[in-house]
Amino acid sequence: MKIEQLPTPCYVIDEKKLENNLKILNGVMKRTGCKIVLAQKAFSMYTLYPLIGKYLSGTTASGLYEARLGYEEMGKENHVFSAAYRDDEIDEIISICDHIIFNSFSQLEKFKDKVLKAGKKIGLRINPECSTQVGHAIYDPCSPGSRFGVTKEHFRPELLDGVSGLHFHTLCQQNADDLETTLNAVEQKFGEWLPQMEWINFGGGHHITREDYDIPLLEKCIQRMQDQYGLEVYLEPGEAVALNAGYLVTTVLDTVKNGMDIAILDTSASCHMPDVLEMPYRPPLFGSGEPGEKPYTYRLGGQTCLTGDTIGDYSFDRPLKEGDRLVFGDMAIYTMVKNTTFNGMPLPAIAIRDRNGDCKVVREFGYEDFKMRLA
Ligand SMILES: *Cc1c(COP(=O)(O)O)cnc(C)c1O
Repeated sequence: MKIEQLPTPCYVIDEKKLENNLKILNGVMKRTGCKIVLAQKAFSMYTLYPLIGKYLSGTTASGLYEARLGYEEMGKENHVFSAAYRDDEIDEIISICDHIIFNSFSQLEKFKDKVLKAGKKIGLRINPECSTQVGHAIYDPCSPGSRFGVTKEHFRPELLDGVSGLHFHTLCQQNADDLETTLNAVEQKFGEWLPQMEWINFGGGHHITREDYDIPLLEKCIQRMQDQYGLEVYLEPGEAVALNAGYLVTTVLDTVKNGMDIAILDTSASCHMPDVLEMPYRPPLFGSGEPGEKPYTYRLGGQTCLTGDTIGDYSFDRPLKEGDRLVFGDMAIYTMVKNTTFNGMPLPAIAIRDRNGDCKVVREFGYEDFKMRLA
């Protein structure tokens, strides 16, 4: 069916755009010999894992369930990092993961023997205490008091036996200059132990598929670790894999006035695009302008009872009316993995737009999906 015929609300993943991103990432892998795995936290649409697996080395997970999904649906290299592992999940995690990355020396000591006995690789997350993002403390693992990674002060080189790699993750939607800054800090604080490692993992947050991203500088950073220390380099971007590769199609249900024009949509920032409120940001909307740029400006809001459930102010060439369809851009990442049924909101359907522009709904949700999570 055509995109105009899809039920709303509906997330639509654009296969061609996803594949373009994958080709860019695969180019970095081919030119440098590094490995790139999908951070499922950002995008877990497993229907597309066979396509993603054609270009990337595998998956990474933040815990057992994501690890299982990557194992079952992609079946390539499977990595996991968790702030802490539970006794009742570690055996299954070890059985399905290739790299198990620990956040502390206590977790490492606790589970190390099991991992080595299974022939799997052990990584340790370090914290280079190098904040390169400003004003984004909740997305900055190097912010003061962060629970992520071992700092230099608490590093215990005498316990490194069996650890084959170091992992850091400090970036969020950043360019390669911030990676370079971070690598300098990593070398300065932990460089002494790099020669004894087999691999280093640069984490995620690299906006590699964004137009202005400096890919040559990224490749220089990768080559530096390969040449200087003989390390295998891993990257685990989430966002970059599906950046700008999806839409959220919605319908205008009503328009009201209160000092300004307001349109109510059959979606919700809070439920269907939570990063709009959490990050926060104003998502792109096709055919719209900044407030006041076009003649008719509206505040777009959701159906829920949360006053703050608004998506933003946008302007249009024509007045909005009931039944109009609006299409938000960049809705693949951190959307369907984070949505909720708060307030009984229905979950958007999930569809794929193929290379010919044909759309197919691959999943629809209903009342049972709301009820089954309550008791
Ligand atoms: C979130 C996260 C990623 C992916 O980050 P993106 O910003 O989506 O690229 C990778 N690794 C770890 C450890 C993460 O927490």
